[in-house]
Order: sequence, then structure tokens, then C-alpha cells
Amino acid sequence: MKAAIYSRKSKFTGKGESIQNQIELCKEYANNYFNISEFIIYEDEGFSGGNTDRPEYQRMIADAKKKKFDVLICYRLDRISRNVLDFSKTIEMLQANNISFVSIREQFDTSTPMGRAMMYISSVFAQLERETIAERIKDNMQRLALTGRWLGGKKPFGFKSKQIEVINYEGEKRKLYELIPIPEEIEIVKLIYKKYIELCSFTKVESYLIQNNIKRNGKFFNQSTVSYILRNPVYCVADQLSYEYFSRQGSATPDKNEFDGKSGLIAYSKRCETTWTIRNKKDWIIGVGRHKGIISSKDWIQVQNIAEENQTKAIKNGTSRISLITPLLKCKCGETMKASSIQKNNDGSIKYYYYVCRRKERTNGSLCNIKNCNGHKADKEVVESLKKFAFNTENLQKLFFGEINSLNSRKENSEDKKKSLLNEIEKKKTMISKLVDSITGSDNSAATKYILEKINKIDNEIKELQKELQTLDNKIETDMLKKLNYEITLELFKKVADLDKLNFEEKQQLIHKLVDKIVWDGENLHLYIKNINSTNCIS
Ligand SMILES: [Zn+2]
Repeated sequence: MKAAIYSRKSKFTGKGESIQNQIELCKEYANNYFNISEFIIYEDEGFSGGNTDRPEYQRMIADAKKKKFDVLICYRLDRISRNVLDFSKTIEMLQANNISFVSIREQFDTSTPMGRAMMYISSVFAQLERETIAERIKDNMQRLALTGRWLGGKKPFGFKSKQIEVINYEGEKRKLYELIPIPEEIEIVKLIYKKYIELCSFTKVESYLIQNNIKRNGKFFNQSTVSYILRNPVYCVADQLSYEYFSRQGSATPDKNEFDGKSGLIAYSKRCETTWTIRNKKDWIIGVGRHKGIISSKDWIQVQNIAEENQTKAIKNGTSRISLITPLLKCKCGETMKASSIQKNNDGSIKYYYYVCRRKERTNGSLCNIKNCNGHKADKEVVESLKKFAFNTENLQKLFFGEINSLNSRKENSEDKKKSLLNEIEKKKTMISKLVDSITGSDNSAATKYILEKINKIDNEIKELQKELQTLDNKIETDMLKKLNYEITLELFKKVADLDKLNFEEKQQLIHKLVDKIVWDGENLHLYIKNINSTNCIS
């Protein structure tokens, strides 16, 4: 029996299983479970799993079609592909050639029908899993990190941006930005860093700025904008010290030599796309920007150390574990609300707290004077209303199954369209081969010229159709992910039934996965559920 081993490793990080390791593990598995006489090894290094455009992968596919081996072994499913469509195509081709497939990490053996079914399901979920999606985004971002461009979005304070258009490796136009410093704002950034090192508190820096009438775009700084500026590597000078700092944190970084002692840094993948919370630094991708660094790496790192120490203290004192619904809770003026006036019982448990609008608190009620909101009561109301929502199955059916059904029918349409596109391409290919045949028999050069022109025209038409097919494939994949997203939200709603059994963190996580935001209007709380357009007014 002959076994093929396929391994893949993507470009950037040195982390993850090395190719050699993947191969050793596969060999070990094969020797334990199969009677293997020969191994054929395929290894792609420096390629992403986002498509199948990989030389060794293509060689493996070609060999499989020639039945050069009996079983294909890989270390993990996503080594083959992180794209469900590519993945299922590969598996179907293997099956058609009577080749078994084994992924040792997931322990699927496609020689059994159950193994095949499990593998499909798991490949679909693997793609959906946030981590995998994040990895795909990461691949793209790493590619961009090397260019040192800022990707747009919320512009860091101290800079304006200049838009430039670049063509990416797929031939698509993409808008990217270059950061241009604004001298007056840069001075404020320097002051904020200086003051924080002196005062060691976001709130104290906020008060200092308000007292000295220092504003951004005519508005006062608040604690979160201050902390955002202090945590952003965009101001930090790229030098050996900052290189070492980020390597130690486990962030992906470019080569050491890129840290030139002059430029500023750019952090990609800093926030989670769904919860918008700051990720652990080990998931950041650091690039060296095209702008100048402003804060010395020594000062920048000192600020991070102070901030982290303060955070640890806050967790120890329990102040971060009071509220179930911050930072989802917003005042109707648009500001976030925070837990305040916390009173504790003798045993340390929380007796009482309010949610207060940050703008109201900051301006002593002059810019917003909304009523405070009872903390325990608000948390309880959100939980109860989620439960009510989850138990109203009729409501859920209406909201989610409607969407799922329309996605299903759209999928049928797309599949039909895909079939007819493939048909058309096939027809045109046949036309070309007939035309080619007719040239072979002809010695009339004028006719040949005419035929060649025609072939060229049909060939261009085929290219257009293939482009259309690619767009359609992308649409089918997006729809499938959307559908799964709905299905997973439904699953999460089922978990709401057990909400009371969960611990504080689990409750918090579940609520954050389901709820988009909660708005306090002074009388009532309005609950906005993710993936749904309508709102639920509670209390
Ligand atoms: Zn307010």
C-alpha cells in the first residue's frame, strides 16, 4: 500500500507545526494503522490554505488522478484547504479514484461513510470557527503588514490619511492609506504619554486634559480615547527594543532588520472583528509603517507595563467583574455607560451599583443629564428578556428560518446558474477544438487567419465566463457562511435556556455573542439582537 503525505505551512509566523513535524506525525500514524510500503511526500512551504494555487498540492492532485497512491494522509484538515468548496472538490476527486483520506488530528478515516460525513460537517464548521476566519484575515493582513500601509477605518489621533490605490495579487484594486502626521495633534499625543507615565491612571490623564481644555476635534477626551491612544503601537518607534517586546509577546513581526529606529509601527488584527475587544498581543500582526515614530520604544513599553499592572489590580479587586452588560450598554446620547457607585456587602459581594452615562459623569451633567440606571435590575432584565426571546420559538422561526429559507432558494438559483455557466464553457471549448481541427485540414491562409481570430474571440468569451463563475462561487460561499451564521445564532439561543447554570464569564460571553447593543433612554432599555433588524424593548 502506498501513502501520500501532504503538508503545508504558511508564510509568516515561525509558530505552528513545522513541515518536518507534520510529516513525522503522519508517518507515525500511517505505520501504526496501515501497512505502508512506500511514502510519497508533498510539501508546500509559504503558501496559504485560502486557495489551491500551490505547486506541490497540484502535483499531489495530478498523481492522485493517476492513482499513484492508495491513501492520502495529512496532519490537519485545514492543511488541504481552508475553503470548503476546494476541500469538498478534493475529497470527491479522491473518492472517485478510490483513495482514502486520513486527517490525523481530527481522526477521520474516509473509508467509512460515518467518517466521510463527520469530515464534511467538521470542515464546514472549521471554516466558520472564528479562529479559522481570523487566520484567513491574518494571512491577508500579514501580506499587507509587509507593505507598511494603514488599512483605513478609524484614523489614529495625530494623523490624517492619504488614500492610494494599489493592485493586489489577485489583480483587484484596493484602497490603502498612508498616514500623514498633524503636528499640533502629535504634540498632544506626546503630552498624553508624558502625563500617563507621571500619573499612572487613564482617569487622571482624562481629568488633566479636561482641566487644561485640551480637546480632539472640538470634543473632550474621555478615558477610552485616552487609553486607546496609549495602547496604540502606531506612535511607537520601530527599533530593536520594540522588536524584542513584540516578539516576546508572541506577535507576528517582520524581519528584525525592518525595525529601522525611525519609523512608527502599525498593528493589524488588533481587535476582534465580532466583539470589537482588543485581542491578546500574541494575535497581533506588527508591521513597520511608512510614517515616523513619535514615542520612544522605552516610554511606549513603560506605558504598556503600567496599564497592564493596573488592569491586573482591577481584576483582583473585582471591579471588572460586576456588570454583565458593559460595554454593550449605551446611553441614548451615544456614549457608553459604566458601572458606578458600587457598594459592597461585608462579604465582598456587590450590594448595589448604578450605570452612569460617561458623558454625564465627565461633564457633571451639563452635556447629558439622563437618569442613572439600576445595575442589578438592568442586568436581570436583559437576561430575562433574552430568555423570553429564546423561548418564543414562533418568533425565532419567523426571524431566522425565513432568512435561512431564502438563502436556501438563492443557493438553488446559484447552483442552476453555475451549471449553465459550466455548460456554456464546455460548449465553447468544443467549438474551439472543432475550429482547431478545421485549421489542420486547411491550406487556405486567409481562412486560417479568420479561424484563428474566431478562436481568439471564443477564448476571450470563455475567460469572461470563468470570471463570472468565480464571482458566483464566491457568492455561494458567502451565502453558505451567512446561513451557518444564522444556524449558529439559533444554537446559541438554545443555550439561553441554561443561562442561569453558567458562571459569570460564560454568561457574559453568551450575552455578548447574541446582543449587538443595549440602549438606555432614561426609562427603558432597548435590546438589539445580532443578525436581526427589529429591536426588543424591555422593562
Ligand atoms: Zn448620555
